[in-house]
Amino acid sequence: MANASKKPTTVVACPNCGTEQVWDTRNEFRPFCSARCKNNDLVAWANEDHAIPGQPLEDVFSEDLEGNY
Ligand SMILES: [Zn+2]
Repeated sequence: MANASKKPTTVVACPNCGTEQVWDTRNEFRPFCSARCKNNDLVAWANEDHAIPGQPLEDVFSEDLEGNY
């Protein structure tokens, strides 16, 4: 019985569509599954969909000071 040597595979989810795929360094679109997803993500970045919501630093700081009294 032939025992095919298995290479460990890393499965990653496409950041755009979530499709799980085997990580392949020959995949020029990684970590995306396809050129389409890669392009979609670039468009999303351009539209600032990836902007991190959060309080302005100043607000957080003054809140913290009040809490220390
Ligand atoms: Zn995808």
